[in-house]
Amino acid sequence: MNSKHIKSKKSKAFSLIIVPQSSDVKQFNISSWIPKLLIFLIIITISSSGYFIWDLYTSYNSLEFNYLSKSRRLDLLSNINLDQKEEIHNLETRLTEFDEILKNITELEETVITLVGLEQNTKKSDVSITEESNMQVESLDNPLQTNIPSASRGDINLLQRDALALGSFMDRNEQIDAISQKLEESHKNLDTLIEDVEKKLAYLEAKPNLTPAPGRVASTFGYRRDPFGRGREFHSGIDIANNSGVKIKAAGGGIVTYAGYNGGYGNFIIIKHGYGYESLYAHNRKLLVKRGDQVSKGDIIAEMGSTGRSTGPHLHFEVHFQGRAVNPYTVLNNND
Ligand SMILES: [Zn+2]
Repeated sequence: MNSKHIKSKKSKAFSLIIVPQSSDVKQFNISSWIPKLLIFLIIITISSSGYFIWDLYTSYNSLEFNYLSKSRRLDLLSNINLDQKEEIHNLETRLTEFDEILKNITELEETVITLVGLEQNTKKSDVSITEESNMQVESLDNPLQTNIPSASRGDINLLQRDALALGSFMDRNEQIDAISQKLEESHKNLDTLIEDVEKKLAYLEAKPNLTPAPGRVASTFGYRRDPFGRGREFHSGIDIANNSGVKIKAAGGGIVTYAGYNGGYGNFIIIKHGYGYESLYAHNRKLLVKRGDQVSKGDIIAEMGSTGRSTGPHLHFEVHFQGRAVNPYTVLNNND
């Protein structure tokens, strides 16, 4: 009975005995549920710590992973940025070259226009394109910046730089567009210019403005005393006196519309030049072209003589414009 009582007491309480060396022994009685609670608390603490450590570990792992992927992305962006910078630099160089070419073309156009004596009716290509747009390029109020996606703090500078680079790219694209537009314009201008130059050259080739023979001007255009002593007469051309047989040239290109003999003019030639011009060569000893021949300016068409109503070997040279004889000196050496 007694032992049973002790046993049941033992299961309900512990005795804590403290034995100090200097004083009396001290004994405390502790209820049996207290160590159970302690063990329970310890288990709870250990398991929650374990969970906490595991959570910390996985968080650390994902952070590290994020960090590495971000850092890789930064490296990638950095490389892209470098590539873009190089590309932009190349583009700038090419743009400058294009611009130089455009300037040269414009200068060439002007030179040709001046040389040929054309009216400047083609649109002059405007100033340099790179100079024009460089003014807008470095603006920091780039509207593109507002489109930057929100990113972690570390990315912002890089993204801003990317946006600036992209902004520069956009500007360069605009420059390229502008340049190709200018090139197209220039191409059209050149086509027009070539057409104009061809027309002008054809006109200048046809115009009877080349002195047809060397010699002394024995008689000019207008009223004069009749060389045969019958009062005054109207002289419808100029007389160039020289030796018989001196070569006579076509004053301009055209078609021979007459090559034959007439009592007054002797052996004479008429050339139709177009543009309202005709020229006439009279008193020749010999004709070297026939009706219907196409002649170029400077082609030899006859030999000087004194056939027809003539007092000595000379060329009687007439220029007609729109059906009327004009003073050949208003046409000779005139390139307008
Ligand atoms: Zn004459």
